[in-house]
Amino acid sequence: MVWEIVHVPDKVPGLEESTVNVLASNVEPKLANTIMRQLSLVAPLENLRHVKRIRRKPTTGKSELSIVLCPSFGNENELGSIPDDVQKLINDYHLSPFTAKVYKYAATSKEEWEEQCKLWPTSYHPMVNVNCVTGFSEEDSQWIISCMKTTLKLAKLNHFGDQGLNAALIVDPACRQLIASAVDQTPVTLESFFHENGGDEAENFGRLFQVYTSDESAEALSSVSCLQPWSWPQQCPQDLSWHPLKHAPVVAIESSAARDRQLFPLHDLNPSISFPSKRQRTEIPQVLTRPYLCTGFDIYLAWEPCAMCAMALVHQRVRRIFFAFPNPNAGALGSVHRLQGERSLNHHYSVFRVSAS
Ligand SMILES: [Zn+2]
Repeated sequence: MVWEIVHVPDKVPGLEESTVNVLASNVEPKLANTIMRQLSLVAPLENLRHVKRIRRKPTTGKSELSIVLCPSFGNENELGSIPDDVQKLINDYHLSPFTAKVYKYAATSKEEWEEQCKLWPTSYHPMVNVNCVTGFSEEDSQWIISCMKTTLKLAKLNHFGDQGLNAALIVDPACRQLIASAVDQTPVTLESFFHENGGDEAENFGRLFQVYTSDESAEALSSVSCLQPWSWPQQCPQDLSWHPLKHAPVVAIESSAARDRQLFPLHDLNPSISFPSKRQRTEIPQVLTRPYLCTGFDIYLAWEPCAMCAMALVHQRVRRIFFAFPNPNAGALGSVHRLQGERSLNHHYSVFRVSAS
């Protein structure tokens, strides 16, 4: 099983920015191997190693083969300058070059790879070392993954296909301390859970991700607040702690605020005291001044938050958001909206998706 920590960009690169033109040509199947061998000698795809040289396109009766000849230096309508060796191949085999688009960079997730292959096939190798994806150190990566495992346990996803809850874990990465944890509707304190960082691989997190990232599963998860922010208030559970706005991230923020009030009671009596804009990077008990909201904190979520929760996290000045499952219904960090790229906001957090396969 491989864990991945993938940065969710604040804007989706357009097709023009993420692709590059190449010269390609249809080839006779019986000549494909010969031409490919010669091309790999005279025009290796140095910066496009992830691009598969040959594309097989199923057509009626037989499959059509196309081959990448070389990168294109012209625009859409001009073939550009073709290297002499490639031109010789074109002449020898009576090829008809055309311009095709391929993705510039190797995919960093299975979903991205599937998207890339719609344009031209690429190869995909899941990162064995999560550092490669985001630049986190090995130690930081392991910490992030253990926090996510705890969050998933908190979401009560004990059995594959469970009707889980969204879960939130607020941590201070500077001193690796748990600040607050919550699930939808009811705040919980599961310190003991948090310290179970051993990570039992037998729980098969990989399969969990298979189940909860499939479209069918996401549609059916009506009990997850952020997934169904509109229909959720219509439910009338008997539990008196229930409230339509108490999505897990909001409940965790409330717990964090309650913790602050407990740790810094004097400030409640004297509201004129100004709060520092940056949280002190020391152990909490040694901090003399009350921190400003969740400045410097990270939050881990089982599901990508809805717009209400994502906006609440902007107001809280959260530093980074890590989530496991995308939220195709109402996700505000890439699936439907992309709040982290909204320039008019006065705070921007970084967003990462943590997944296992
Ligand atoms: Zn929400």
